[in-house]
Amino acid sequence: MAKILMVLYPDPVDGFPPKYIRDSIPTIDSYPGGSSTPTPSGIDFTPGEMVACVSGALGLKKWAADNGHELIVTSDKEGENSEFEKYLPEADVVISQPFWPAYLGKDRLEKAKNLKLAITAGVGSDHVDLTEAMKRNITVAEVTYSNSISVAEHAAMTILNLVRNFVPAHRIVTDEKGWNIADAVKWSYDLEGMDVGVIAAGRIGRALLKRMKPFDVNLHYYDLYRLDPQTEKELGATYHESVEDLMRSVDVVSIHSPLTSDTYHMVDEKMINSMRRGSYIVNTARAEIVVRDDIVKALESGQLGGYGGDVWYPQPPAEDHPWRTMPRNAMTPHTSGSSLSAQTRYAAGTREILEDFFAGRQLRDSYIIVQGGALAGTGAKSYTTDGKASPGSTGK
Ligand code: NAD
Repeated sequence: MAKILMVLYPDPVDGFPPKYIRDSIPTIDSYPGGSSTPTPSGIDFTPGEMVACVSGALGLKKWAADNGHELIVTSDKEGENSEFEKYLPEADVVISQPFWPAYLGKDRLEKAKNLKLAITAGVGSDHVDLTEAMKRNITVAEVTYSNSISVAEHAAMTILNLVRNFVPAHRIVTDEKGWNIADAVKWSYDLEGMDVGVIAAGRIGRALLKRMKPFDVNLHYYDLYRLDPQTEKELGATYHESVEDLMRSVDVVSIHSPLTSDTYHMVDEKMINSMRRGSYIVNTARAEIVVRDDIVKALESGQLGGYGGDVWYPQPPAEDHPWRTMPRNAMTPHTSGSSLSAQTRYAAGTREILEDFFAGRQLRDSYIIVQGGALAGTGAKSYTTDGKASPGSTGK
């Protein structure tokens, strides 16, 4: 019997379960490239149900009970007196989501004497100090690809939203009960013909390039690794050897790299000032890839045309976080990868990881970030380690 400590976001304020506006979601069996969506032995929820909040428990309550595991589910994750810290010393497995991350920095990992497996129900394990996890031989796994398309859709939406000036126009009719067309269109442009780039052409970056192509834009990308010629040709995207070169060549950039010590604060004032005036930045990767106050300053000065995305630091952000009120923002809470469609996949993938782990089977290679004291699987391809603590793992 194992103790599984799961940190999920709070239930909807109007109660659980919510009233759904649709009755079903499409069945997705495979990801681009052909690998299958999660294959647990079964699931105990209906696809499309809310499973990612506390009462949903990722649909794992019955499975845990049937298998004799103790499942502790909480949203209380901040500070030494939180439920999370209370149960952490006994936990064999910790599960948390990037949307409501249970930060696992060095201090907390020191307390987690029994911890063998940290699962990210979603994608992006920067809330775990990967260097420390390696030292302690803790396996870190995530549900790779489960929400990549969900995020790419959100990024595409945010690009259009910013370029077409959607939020201010929407506010004119809803909040202001107005109809001033000139005010609504004074910052509204067509995306057609613009230079649109991505920082990192991994699963999400490539999916976004593919989705942007029909808008008749000029596509660009920067990544540590160049795409194979066939993929590059299909996408019609120009490769840039450096992030600096990409940034000065585009009107819109969307960030899709992981947060590592290389990408931490990569987009700063100097880089923003090298962009064309009125450029747009979309960030659905991790907030700490950009310098918070440099974004605010560039929006206020007009150097940036807009900034949008769903990632903040820490999460949840303070009430007075400047991104809540900065001009021309299209920010949401961290939702892009937690649509009901995405939840279905990452809840099933979490169960697949748990089943394999407890049966002593090797996890899917693509799910592994850290194993056997080293980066492995997807972790070896997407993360770098320089022996320092992972940025973004303390929540401070
Ligand atoms: P992926 O592993 O498929 O791709 C990551 C890409 O980043 C790889 O191509 C890698 O070569 C590249 N990369 C790594 N370091 C780089 C650097 N220093 N400069 C440029 N490129 C670099 O990952 P993915 O599924 O596309 O996800 C990317 C990131 O998006 C995740 O790490 C996560 O932080 C974030 N994410 C956010 C959400 C959300 O809900 N907002 C959901 C999923 C993932």
